[in-house]
Parts: sequence; C-alpha cells; structure tokens
Amino acid sequence: MFSPITNDVKTLSSEKDPMGLAIRDFFCKKKLHPLMVHSSLFEDDEMPISHLFRTFDQCSTIEKTAIKESKGRVLDVGAGAGSHSLALQAKGCEVKSIDMSQISVDIMKERGIKDAECINFYDPQLHGPFDTILLLMNGAGIIGKIDNISGFLQRLKLLLAPDGQILMDSSDLRYLYEEEDGSFLIDINAKYYGEIDYQMSYGDIYGPSFDWLYIDFDTLNYYCKQAGFLVESIADDGEYAYLARITSQQR
Ligand code: SAH
Repeated sequence: MFSPITNDVKTLSSEKDPMGLAIRDFFCKKKLHPLMVHSSLFEDDEMPISHLFRTFDQCSTIEKTAIKESKGRVLDVGAGAGSHSLALQAKGCEVKSIDMSQISVDIMKERGIKDAECINFYDPQLHGPFDTILLLMNGAGIIGKIDNISGFLQRLKLLLAPDGQILMDSSDLRYLYEEEDGSFLIDINAKYYGEIDYQMSYGDIYGPSFDWLYIDFDTLNYYCKQAGFLVESIADDGEYAYLARITSQQR
C-alpha cells in the first residue's frame, strides 16, 4: 500500500504565491517586480519571468527532446505558465497540466490549455493512468529531499500506464564543490549535496520556503533500480544537466 511521503498535499494560497503573481502580471502586461529566488547555497538571483513563457523554439535541447519524446496521454507536472503543455497540445497530444498554484492554472486556461487543474502532485485525488509523465525545469525538484525519493517513485508507479514513461530533467550540482585542480570536495557525512532550500519573492510578497532536490544521474539510477524502474539519460547539455527516461522494468 502506498504511504504518502508527505501529508503536505496543499496548494498555494494566492497571497503567498510570488511566482503565480509574477506569471499573472506578465500575462496581463502589468508592471513587473523582479521575481527573486533566495537560497542558503546561492546568492539571491532573479528569475526572468519571460522564461516561464518560452516558446518551443526558445526551449533547451533537453526540453525539446522531452516534448518530441512525449506520447499518448501526458501529465505535465508543475506546469507553471504552461509552456511545455502548449507545445504538446500543438503537436496533438492529450495533456493534463497540473500545478499547485491556482493563479498559474488560471493563466494556463487563459492561454488555451484545455485540461489544467490546481492540484498537488502528491494529492491522492490525482489519478492516472498516463502514458507520459513530464517533469521539467529541474523536474526532480518536487522530490524535495533524497529521503523522499522512494515515495516519489511509488507515486509515479500509481499514475503511470503499464508501458508508460517518465521524462524528468535534473542537474548534478557537484560543480559547486569543484576545486581548482578539478577534484571535488564533497562531505559524504553531510546531507546529499543536491538538497537545496529555496524561497521566492515578488515585490514584498514572500512565498513559503521549500525543499528542492537536484539529483545526479547515478544516484537517480540507484534509487530507480531499487524501485523496479529502468532509467536512461536521453539528452544532456554537455555539462551537468540531463533528461532521464524512467520506465517500468516489467514492460
Ligand atoms: N514546468 C514549468 C514551471 C516550472 S516552475 C516550466 O518549465 O516552465 C515549478 C512549478 O512547479 C511551479 O509552478 C510550482 O507551483 C509547481 N509545483 C511545485 N511543487 C509542486 C507540487 N508538489 N505539485 C504541483 N505543482 C508543483
């Protein structure tokens, strides 16, 4: 029996949803504040809001590959402003787009996405089966922490059609620990090096802080094998980012 990895299957309240508010202002051509990303590991950074509205041509090779490889009934998880969902609809796929931000879901509908729902990926009310489950823009982020990965994979199993595939991108953050001589200084007794805590802000609106996981391919492969999944890397950026295709071993 699947035990939820977290009881937190909430959606975002609109007063605490900086990214949703930024998406709405951009769509409505209102004056924008900078959308800021804060974390304990990086300097504060601005996320260009236009990036959330990228067209297929503006997508990275990893994203273009994911869109080209998507087939059948597709679930776009954490769809944001719906850029990938729109590209999928344009190529004739049946897409369900979910996001925990009600504001983002409203904008997706206004942008022409036919089946957009405000629901948390971990909410048991969300049912499959889906032939393709898409998680993009460091889609592995919603795993949160490495300890959650078995529950995450169980959740995917419940949503995936028997011959289905999961297409998820992530990056190996080991470059943050690279020394001048090219070696890596990673404290193996510390928490997994891809676990980051983030908070977003837009003007004076601050969202809740949240855990966001970056996972290297070998670690993903290790946990997938344990859960009875096969994983292959089907695209990369030549550096640390990759697109994983995860399928069931019993295909
Ligand atoms: N995939 C989009 C947006 C990425 S930003 C793109 O590439 O442009 C990540 C999105 O995931 C945000 O819109 C956030 O609200 C959503 N999200 C994060 N955790 C989620 C969860 N557990 N369930 C559903 N949506 C989630």
